[in-house]
Amino acid sequence: MRNQLLIGGTWLDGDGRFPVTDPATGDEITTVADGTPAHATAAVDAAAAAQIGWASTSPRERSEVLRACWSTLVDHTDELAELITTEHGKPLADARGEVAYAAEFFRWNAEEAVRIHGSISTAPSGANKIIVRHPPVGVVVMVTPWNFPAAMITRKVAPALGAGNAVVIKPPKETPLTALRVADLLQAAGVPDGVVNVVPTTTSSTWFDAATEHTATRMVSFTGSTEVGRILLRRCADRVLKVAMELGGNAPFIVFDDADLDAAVEGAMVAKMRHSAETCTAANRFFAEAGIAADFTAALAEAMASIRVGRGFDPEVACGPMINAGAVESIGGLVDAAVDAGARVATGGSAIDGPGHFYTPTVLGGVEAGADITRHEIFGPVAPVIPFTDRDEMIRHANDTEMGLAAYVYSGDLATALSTSERLESGMVGINRGAMSDPAAPFGGMKQSGLGREGASEGIYEFCETQYVAVSW
Ligand code: NAD
Repeated sequence: MRNQLLIGGTWLDGDGRFPVTDPATGDEITTVADGTPAHATAAVDAAAAAQIGWASTSPRERSEVLRACWSTLVDHTDELAELITTEHGKPLADARGEVAYAAEFFRWNAEEAVRIHGSISTAPSGANKIIVRHPPVGVVVMVTPWNFPAAMITRKVAPALGAGNAVVIKPPKETPLTALRVADLLQAAGVPDGVVNVVPTTTSSTWFDAATEHTATRMVSFTGSTEVGRILLRRCADRVLKVAMELGGNAPFIVFDDADLDAAVEGAMVAKMRHSAETCTAANRFFAEAGIAADFTAALAEAMASIRVGRGFDPEVACGPMINAGAVESIGGLVDAAVDAGARVATGGSAIDGPGHFYTPTVLGGVEAGADITRHEIFGPVAPVIPFTDRDEMIRHANDTEMGLAAYVYSGDLATALSTSERLESGMVGINRGAMSDPAAPFGGMKQSGLGREGASEGIYEFCETQYVAVSW
């Protein structure tokens, strides 16, 4: 198990060590080297030194290294999935799914790396030609969350490397072990020393200052909460760094009267519960039209009540622990306040005694649109159902949030579903589908859910500059 800092291809000790715990048991898994601001600076130095050589390789060479990364990660699926389940807690099947998704970013970007297109045109005056090309940004600092310990890293690293950048990653202190092992495997697959550096830390704020004050750093790519994203954006402003932000969500899940009830419940379970209900795209507010609301609430409650909660290594378990005690407390506070405000508990509604940090899958019926629980990203297995009669008013409520990451629409009528999707202020919409993440699709949010897109063809250009050359010949 890798548990040191990776700087310039060398594994190093930090300034002391910090514990990483299994959220299903509370037991310490191991300790990890604690990186300091000085390590952040050293990692940017190493990345800057390595980036020049990496950027000068041919797109085909980089593509082939990326393809080898994909294959190496896939070959280590079992090991990586077990690591993810150990430090994050999600069920092993979800962890395997995450590894497949994480690896796929390398295969996709191996294909994109040889297709970074520029253009040539004639100036309108006819005086010269306009050549546009897309060189790499340079050194990119990446800060990632704990909910996808592998995929939130590879979704950034694969396109960044494909474009010719070098990176310095600060994984979350809750799940650094997967990040370190992924980096180890990337090295084994042929990524040169210094192109990928990983520096876990318990002092993220001063670490980030040091990494971004370094003059070689040209970009910050962040995935995490909107609250922290705002702080990092302010800091990036000081050095006018290029930024990419994948932030929080508050997804509406809309069920119209004409939806197929079974499909809607199945989709709701996927949109709410996969990865232990700790996803940024998780359905957070369920709007059910009056004619289907009672049946939908009852069927969803039955499905949620049937879920086995427990340690992710148990094959019967479909919902693992929350990441820590604070998460359980926050979920419980939101549920209790909703019940005090008049919501009805259709199933669940309480935390489960430890060890470990568990919460019962919960469905709340009769929630008011605009209730406090609909204004927070729950990040846990709780589904508040809001009945509606007026479709225009429902859309207004669905959009009444500063977030705009994901939304879901269930209807038997494609015209209803598509016209609804056009009115939703959301970067991604699933129609009659509860999952939408795909390396080939542009992932990202509108409004305060983010800036930029990861995946698709757009993803690699996020890590490129644009240079224009005026030529007379
Ligand atoms: P978080 O914002 O608390 O932390 C994210 C990362 O930022 C961690 O590595 C953390 O250590 C670091 N960090 C925190 N404060 C910092 C500071 N002051 N300076 C520098 N770094 C700092 O988020 P989290 O709890 O790890 O993850 C959950 C959040 O992430 C949710 O809001 C979720 O919606 C969001 N998320 C978004 C996406 C997306 O693609 N849009 C994907 C996954 C998670």
